Amino acid sequence: MNTQTVNIQRTSRSILRDNMRNYTPQPVRSAQEVWAQFRADNGFARLSPPLLTAPTHNTKLDKTQAFGLSLAPARLSGYNTCTHSTIACRRVCLNTAGKGAYSSVQRARIAKTKFLHEHTDEFATLLMHEVHSLYMQYGKDLRMRLNVLSDLRWEELLPQVFECAPRAQFYDYTKDWDRMFVDMPANYTLAASAHERTTEDDVRFMVDAGHDVSVVFSTPAGQPLPHTYAGQHVTDADLSDAWMLMRPRKDGRGRVGGLRAKGRARGDISGFVKNPLGS
Ligand code: SF4
Repeated sequence: MNTQTVNIQRTSRSILRDNMRNYTPQPVRSAQEVWAQFRADNGFARLSPPLLTAPTHNTKLDKTQAFGLSLAPARLSGYNTCTHSTIACRRVCLNTAGKGAYSSVQRARIAKTKFLHEHTDEFATLLMHEVHSLYMQYGKDLRMRLNVLSDLRWEELLPQVFECAPRAQFYDYTKDWDRMFVDMPANYTLAASAHERTTEDDVRFMVDAGHDVSVVFSTPAGQPLPHTYAGQHVTDADLSDAWMLMRPRKDGRGRVGGLRAKGRARGDISGFVKNPLGS
């Protein structure tokens, strides 16, 4: 990555951060109006559907009964929502899995991502409104993933969203490992995602430091994952998308969450998908 690209990424991230930090809550009705008009201007029906996807509309989230925000990953919308993505993760990203195979779903995610960047006040107003309404309904049973297909620093961008549902459980995966070492809202839990440049030493370091790490293995569907990786016990993360919300280990160390390669990840030769016999 050259210096100019890094600077552009920093600039777009800091503009969004500044806009979000200084966001002025709008009346919900007028924010819905702006969203409906934005959609109409981008070729959609003039409606203001929720920003959040219900668990029943996403196979992964359905398992954990979590609501999720599905933006367009990496630079698909023209705005970078995954500043730490890698060549391999962009290639195997689950963006096109399930309903993502439909072009209408892709276009809708792109529109939502542009709306976030171009109408930040209205986006933040609607997101806060939806999270708060769901919290009133589900209370502490509410689970929420704000980065289903993105890797934004919500703890910096919109810390208020965690405060408006204080007993809800927010969780995400991140390739931005620096996020694992900053103060997080008490109800936001992250797992670090391994990628093609992640070594076993990196995984060991994170686990020793008390952090959970997700690792994708070439293990076929239905087959058992390796017992250990990098000398650590492997938890089956395919059983629950929210495995990192399990009770912390008594010894204070983190866990390795193993995932079986799916979709395009099955043919990966970059090192993103780890060989279960490799340790
Ligand atoms: S960081 Fe995650 S969401 Fe972004 S491109 Fe990579 S796999 Fe997809």
